[in-house]
Amino acid sequence: MTIDPLVREKEVAWGSTATYLTLDIEEWYHANYQGVDYTRFYDSPTTLEEMVDRLIERCHEWKVQATCFVLASVAAKKPAIVRKLHAAGHEIASHGYSHRVVHAMIPEEFRAEMALSNDILEQITGEKVLGFRAPSFSVTKQCMAWYYEALEAVGLRYSSSVFPGQTFLYGVPGSPRYPHFPRIDGRNTSILEFPLPVVHLPGTEMGLYIRLFPAWFIRRFIRRENARGIPTVLYVHPREIDPDQPRLDLPLLTRLIHYWGIRGCEAKLGRVLGGLPGRFIPMRDSLLLADPKHNRDPHSDSGLGLRTGIVDRQL
Ligand SMILES: [Zn+2]
Repeated sequence: MTIDPLVREKEVAWGSTATYLTLDIEEWYHANYQGVDYTRFYDSPTTLEEMVDRLIERCHEWKVQATCFVLASVAAKKPAIVRKLHAAGHEIASHGYSHRVVHAMIPEEFRAEMALSNDILEQITGEKVLGFRAPSFSVTKQCMAWYYEALEAVGLRYSSSVFPGQTFLYGVPGSPRYPHFPRIDGRNTSILEFPLPVVHLPGTEMGLYIRLFPAWFIRRFIRRENARGIPTVLYVHPREIDPDQPRLDLPLLTRLIHYWGIRGCEAKLGRVLGGLPGRFIPMRDSLLLADPKHNRDPHSDSGLGLRTGIVDRQL
């Protein structure tokens, strides 16, 4: 049996070194909770530009190239933010236009929003948008088939939107926990999904929020996942490094999840990212190494870590 050199490269890129810092570029009020109407804050003052400047500076310091999922309605209003991120070498990807949850839309609506957001972002950077993150990780089992079809139809190449566990807010339990091409109705889609990391706690599962977990825990989580051949996707919003932001009126549990740990978040990011030099690459860089014919299973005993059609879920 011959070993395809590309396969070895895949092992290197996904197995031992790759980790992604993703920044969801949106305003402090873009949150999808029941009873919150963020449209009423559209004209309120924000510190987004200042927070993005700070993130750009800190990423430079930490030698991190991030993947920025930019909300296109914000980009249309404040294109300078997108230009600065792009000029600093970060990847510009899409976070949609309206910040509405995916599963609440009809497929045509979602597809139109995707096309619009790509147009806006591409006009600003002059570069093709390749990836998308669903607001509030709002991809469900029910909408998965049309979701990936819509991304393919508008020429996208990857998604980082599925939480392969269950929280009280989101999740697709049973989904693969490593990058894969979702197999829908017997066909591997051409969209590479980078799932979000799942933290197992007694009796529950949670996202790997930088604000909530200690830096040593996050670094250990990344190293452990990398050792198993799984890259980790970290995610941060500009509002998460702004202790002085206005507060949304939220019920207690949601308020804790939304605002806990903001004061120490920027310093903690430094302890996490600074402690793992060279591991953070933009998601587009991993696309070159991926092939939809192969779905990678890091637990496979094939010796190559690759197996075709491993994600054979009937939806
Ligand atoms: Zn968002």
